[in-house]
Amino acid sequence: MKQTEKLWILIVLFPIVLGISCSVCLGRAVSSDYLLIHFINVGYGDSIFVEFPDGASMLIDGGNREAGVRVSDYLEERKIKKLDLVVVTHPHPDHMEGLFSVAQEHKIDSIIANEDISESKNYIPFFEVVKGKGIEFKQVKRGDIINRFKKVEIEILHPDKLTGNWNNDSLAMKLTYKKVSFLIIADLGQKICDGLVEYYKERLKCTVVKVPYHGKSGGGEFIRKASPEVAVLSVGPSIWGAPLEEILAQYKDLKIPLLRTDEKGTIVIKTDGEKIWF
Ligand SMILES: [Zn+2]
Repeated sequence: MKQTEKLWILIVLFPIVLGISCSVCLGRAVSSDYLLIHFINVGYGDSIFVEFPDGASMLIDGGNREAGVRVSDYLEERKIKKLDLVVVTHPHPDHMEGLFSVAQEHKIDSIIANEDISESKNYIPFFEVVKGKGIEFKQVKRGDIINRFKKVEIEILHPDKLTGNWNNDSLAMKLTYKKVSFLIIADLGQKICDGLVEYYKERLKCTVVKVPYHGKSGGGEFIRKASPEVAVLSVGPSIWGAPLEEILAQYKDLKIPLLRTDEKGTIVIKTDGEKIWF
């Protein structure tokens, strides 16, 4: 091979090799065409980690205190140093206690929660940490749109007004990337799910649903209107009687595949906005 040919090969290959090694060393802080949603196995609780196509990241809830360490490790393994957004759906321990260790171990840009923080004692110590770290904080409600993540829109579906019932006041959202959408409904009870059907009607249609309230709600007209290709159930051993057999039976009758974290561990759904893989 001539010297000039060798030189050209180096000129062409060097940026490619450099690009590959940089994307490896930065974890997934680079853009891609894919949106990835990780339903982290936190036992009975919720923790959902989202990697956006523009390289940004979001965490919805952090499981209970014990699970929070595992959530933190999960982010660490993926070399996620910073979370652009953390969502606290409601102040029950199986959703928010794990966020303490996440907030200690990772940089967080901003946090959203419902409008209940002055009322719920469970929030107070967490939001003291948040204030101390100077993290931006915003309260959101039905109709708010988060469009800071390129190509992906997040619509807050609930709550409109607070009722004082922490589960029923959970933040619920729809995340849409091109033709694919995810309904993430936290712990809303069946009556509130029915209320969503009345309010949103056909707009509840989605590609993936996170079964509300660890399988203690989310049946009836709600699941028929949502009509997802697949459902994810975040659940583990508990004294709370979840999931309910009657809810599981409805998903089975409708032939909706149900992926359970207590059977499969952490479940990752990947989409290019047209198709999903899991
Ligand atoms: Zn819960």
